[in-house]
Amino acid sequence: MNKKVNVIGSGVIGLTSALLLQERGYEVTIIASEFPGEQHAEYTSPSAGARWKTLAPNSDLRLQRHDTVSFKFFWELAKSNAGNAGIMVVSAFDYYEEEATKDQLDPWWKTVVPTFQMIDRAELPKGMSFGYYYTTVVINPLVYLPWLMNQFLNLGGLCQRQTVHDLSDVITGVDIVVNCTGIRAKELTHDASLIATRGHNVLVKAPHIRKTMSMVRKKDYTYVIPRTDGTVILGTTKDEHGNAAEVNEKTTLDILQRAAQCCPELSPDGVQSMQVLENIVGYRPTRKGGPRIQNEFYVSKEGKKTLITHNYGHGGSGYQSSWGSCQEAVRLVEEGHAYIENDRYKIKQLFSRL
Ligand SMILES: Cc1cc2nc3c(=O)[nH]c(=O)nc-3n(C[C@H](O)[C@H](O)[C@H](O)COP(=O)(O)OP(=O)(O)OC[C@H]3O[C@@H](n4cnc5c(N)ncnc54)[C@H](O)[C@@H]3O)c2cc1C
Repeated sequence: MNKKVNVIGSGVIGLTSALLLQERGYEVTIIASEFPGEQHAEYTSPSAGARWKTLAPNSDLRLQRHDTVSFKFFWELAKSNAGNAGIMVVSAFDYYEEEATKDQLDPWWKTVVPTFQMIDRAELPKGMSFGYYYTTVVINPLVYLPWLMNQFLNLGGLCQRQTVHDLSDVITGVDIVVNCTGIRAKELTHDASLIATRGHNVLVKAPHIRKTMSMVRKKDYTYVIPRTDGTVILGTTKDEHGNAAEVNEKTTLDILQRAAQCCPELSPDGVQSMQVLENIVGYRPTRKGGPRIQNEFYVSKEGKKTLITHNYGHGGSGYQSSWGSCQEAVRLVEEGHAYIENDRYKIKQLFSRL
């Protein structure tokens, strides 16, 4: 039984898939153009916030499962290995300008996170209509991605640097390929549902900030996400048509001002006193209909069948859904693999009747 798998991609989705496959006994090679510690405009994972604030609607049980599984995992990880993995437990305050919908008044995730409560109207910042208080996890991608990679290497995983131009380039010697190529899956699969949503964030030094906050207004979305190393991510933009990685200084200033409004403790002496370390631009791999986690069979000219399990298109939720969505992908790998093995078994039986 061939249990070798090529995972394409070394972002949060490729690494998490690879680790879960190793746990199931597969021999995994990660093939990627970029690896943790490196930067590229279309390598999204290092540029994320990142925190757990679910975007799954009350009506989507599949996305809810992804986010719930992941929250529970991160929570345990924070408790057991917080320093090494770059995960931190913090209080969260989310404010909304527009009046709450029925679903927002009864969010599905209120029993997933500890300490959930609606914020009293009297305690809301000016101009806000409702808000949530709860406890969540924040993730520093620059620590967490290398941590995932180390787990993978310690379990005997292999890495190969290669830019894949066609999925058939990576099927030699394996029965299974898992496609975790994020936004660049568009080139490999011609998936028209995948679009890049540009996000601009600003990294500042502010070790006194130990809570995450957000402010959702009609015209913009602002957040403050502290990291384990005393830095804080301030964001963000969601530009559907922006495909340039250049930084617009006006946007930087706008983000600083919005963040200060959302969390006044950030800059008691005014925005000018904030210690800006870096502007970060990334592309969320947004996909209409949610992530594509799906099996496909590639049949070579010689008739060899290879399972391709797609796992891309996680939008602004790649971290917070990672463990649950990759668990779904690994379940599909097992199903697809069993199908290939069964085919082989049937062929063997036919031969034995000759
Ligand atoms: C500004 C911003 C803020 C965000 N905040 C959050 C947040 O708070 N919470 C959250 O959960 N998510 C957040 N996200 C979303 C999250 O970052 C993404 O969903 C996630 O990183 C996508 O990971 P991925 O592994 O699918 O893709 P990527 O990280 O892009 O990895 C793709 C991998 O595939 C490789 N690759 C691609 N094409 C090829 C090829 N042809 N050949 C070989 N290798 C290839 C690349 O080299 C790379 O290793 C944010 C994103 C942005 C931009």
